[in-house]
Amino acid sequence: MKATVVKIIPFSCVDGPGNRTAIFLQGCNINCKYCHNPETRGPKNPEATEMTVEEVMERVKKQVPFIRGITVSGGECMLHPEFVQAIFEQAKPLGLTTLIDSNGTIPFEKYPELMAVTDGVMLDIKAMNREDHIKITDHDNDTVLANAKYLAECGKLYEVRSVIVPGLYNGDKNADALIEFLEPLHQLSDFRIKLITYRPNGVREEYAIYKQPSKVFMQRLGERFREHGFEVVIV
Ligand code: SF4
Repeated sequence: MKATVVKIIPFSCVDGPGNRTAIFLQGCNINCKYCHNPETRGPKNPEATEMTVEEVMERVKKQVPFIRGITVSGGECMLHPEFVQAIFEQAKPLGLTTLIDSNGTIPFEKYPELMAVTDGVMLDIKAMNREDHIKITDHDNDTVLANAKYLAECGKLYEVRSVIVPGLYNGDKNADALIEFLEPLHQLSDFRIKLITYRPNGVREEYAIYKQPSKVFMQRLGERFREHGFEVVIV
């Protein structure tokens, strides 16, 4: 089995807990206005290479003594569920934890065999308001929110991520709506919130008009989540 791999980072400390090998797969099914990796979205990328599961695992195996686990990301790695499953099935016997980083637009519950070998999911909720989500990504958030519920119910929601972009939508209203939606899920399982500061550098020129939120604004948003019992990471 093969998939197109953009890159493999042997040691990453930003793609889940501990030191991890991060595997980035080519292709994405949505169109975020602030995408920093537009080259990973399409089917082709001169930087990417076709790799078998075995070739990916050869790279992973070299790092086993030094890593806690692996994270598969993209693009959108859930466009390749069988490939991700096959990697995880080989990673588990090596004692590695397995995480997926996803935009949440593909239903996880359709892939029970993949979920059986997945320890957790880092799920983007790019906006709570449906129209805002469409504006930001050209895709609605119905499946994203259904995925958040499903993953919390089965204890596999590791982290909810949201990029904060003032100007694209109302950040305060979005935070309130997120808290209201996530609070009941937080009763079901523990997960953390990662608030990601939008940075205009590197985004497509036509979308670089949006301003980077201030540290004060990000901290204030973080406090709102903390007041409701969430662990919050701001990057
Ligand atoms: S989900 Fe990620 S890779 Fe896909 S368009 Fe959005 S930011 Fe880019």
